[in-house]
Amino acid sequence: MKLVRTRNSEIEVDFKEAVLNPSTDDNSLYAPKTLPKFNLKDLKNLSYKQFALKLIQSFEFNVDDEVFKKALDSYENFDDKDCPIYIFKASENLYINELYHGPTRAFKDMALQPFGVLLDELSKDKKFLILCATSGDTGPATLKAFENKDNIKVVCIYPHLGTSEIQALQMNTMQAKNLKVMPISGDFDTAQNILKILLNDKNFSDSLSKLGYCLSVANSVNFARILFQTIYHYYVSLKLNKTIDIIVPSGNFGNALAAYYAKKMGANIDKIKIASNSNNILSDFFTKGEYDLRGRMLIKTISPAMDILISSNIERLIFDKFGDKRCKELFDSLKEYSFFQLKEDELQALKEDFEADFCSDIECKEYIKKFSITSIIDPHTATCFKLIDKNKTQVICSTAEWTKFTPSMYEALFGTSCHSEMEAMIDIAERYEIGIKVDILDLFDKKKNELKIYESKDLKDNILEWIKK
Ligand SMILES: *Cc1c(COP(=O)(O)O)cnc(C)c1O
Repeated sequence: MKLVRTRNSEIEVDFKEAVLNPSTDDNSLYAPKTLPKFNLKDLKNLSYKQFALKLIQSFEFNVDDEVFKKALDSYENFDDKDCPIYIFKASENLYINELYHGPTRAFKDMALQPFGVLLDELSKDKKFLILCATSGDTGPATLKAFENKDNIKVVCIYPHLGTSEIQALQMNTMQAKNLKVMPISGDFDTAQNILKILLNDKNFSDSLSKLGYCLSVANSVNFARILFQTIYHYYVSLKLNKTIDIIVPSGNFGNALAAYYAKKMGANIDKIKIASNSNNILSDFFTKGEYDLRGRMLIKTISPAMDILISSNIERLIFDKFGDKRCKELFDSLKEYSFFQLKEDELQALKEDFEADFCSDIECKEYIKKFSITSIIDPHTATCFKLIDKNKTQVICSTAEWTKFTPSMYEALFGTSCHSEMEAMIDIAERYEIGIKVDILDLFDKKKNELKIYESKDLKDNILEWIKK
């Protein structure tokens, strides 16, 4: 199978091309024209990895099985080397699918770990510079995915003091020579803006190409990331062996789109429920059929990985539901007027598969306190609890380990702010009788790289200088 452009599906590319070169001149994303049917009715004693490979094979991409096998072997770095996810029953009709048992304790590892290997395998004859801007979760996961890969260098930009201490430590204690972490003065928007400017800077990409490097990104605009996420949603539906709703804490809509793809491929999923925080652009989209950026400002919340207004993967959903012409029309409107509105029948078509709601920080903290009983839930996962329907089987996607958001967790659980992040983490662990991975605790003692704070304007020259070294 080939992948096509969401705004002009006449243009097709191979999987490899879409992975290595995801940006397009018409701002399209690459997506399957139609999803393959994958009619597995039970797991038949398949391991997670065997199942994953079968699902990937159903796409019939023009790529050797060996490449995907190698990519899936990266799941051996997870807590349980035979299965990267951990599903448990929390109460009658409610299951939690913990997706954060990888090396950086965030669900981003589920896609980025195999993606790192995949890119390395597919790019044998080329060198890549991957740029990433992060508010905390994507950065560590991207750096970890490409650690010590010969042909790939990674630059990760983050707002100095804009992440939790543990997230900054995760990035600044990595020693591999091919990784560069650049804290900047400014907030996450500043970081994202610089990323955009650099990606579109012809002079920058020319200079890189003279040094032998192609420029790329590893965000969920890349179809391969969605592919690796589709697997676990399908897997859960077979494991539980009944019709389920899946509740997804959403930002860029990659995880939820993957659940929709799993459903289209044949998984026994009824509703996909979209949980947002106060940046409720997605819940407005699914309840009112409008995407309205006019006058909207990004609100900082305690679930920072969901602080997003432009949710890239909505484009793939619209393409799948309404086709390339309509997709182009709607996103042209968004570009020109910061707004688009679906027709009533289109909205109804979305509602066949989706429901949505959002949580304020106050509600979110209440859910953390109320539902952290047998295990502790992080501020992103907490937004899902508003969408539970007690009469149906519900699966909540748990996207991060609580340790990564200790200051907000401490406030939610004990009602006061903490002084030291490490002490607060240990305090929570003791009072709730749960363990903390040694890797996380060790970070506080590790040798930190010398921390230099960069000004936006100096970034480009600094990156080029580092590449030359
Ligand atoms: C990235 C992230 C999300 C949002 O996932 P999308 O695929 O972007 O919708 C939710 N929770 C956590 C912890 C994340 O890191």
